[in-house]
Amino acid sequence: MRFLCLLVVLVCAAAQQTDKPDKLAMRKQIAEMKVKAFEMQTQIELLEKQLHDVEEAEANQPLVTPAVKAAVKVRCQGHTRDGKRCARNAEAGSRFCWQHKSKR
Ligand SMILES: [Zn+2]
Repeated sequence: MRFLCLLVVLVCAAAQQTDKPDKLAMRKQIAEMKVKAFEMQTQIELLEKQLHDVEEAEANQPLVTPAVKAAVKVRCQGHTRDGKRCARNAEAGSRFCWQHKSKR
């Protein structure tokens, strides 16, 4: 029984000893988390603004996106030696195929 009392006293003493540093650590942690939360809030606001800008830019764009443009194949505007229209597809960003490109 005496041993138990001593143990309780020791535990209480230990709890009291670690009480103050724990509080400090907790306050420090809270302060650090508050800073992190503030940083995250700033980041969220920045991302939201960027997203809004992107969405606005997309809304102002015409319906034909670069991906759609690339998918549409343009026929070469050149002509073959016998006067017929070239049957090849024009190169990307050009109105002529690889062969007629240089003769433009
Ligand atoms: Zn051609």
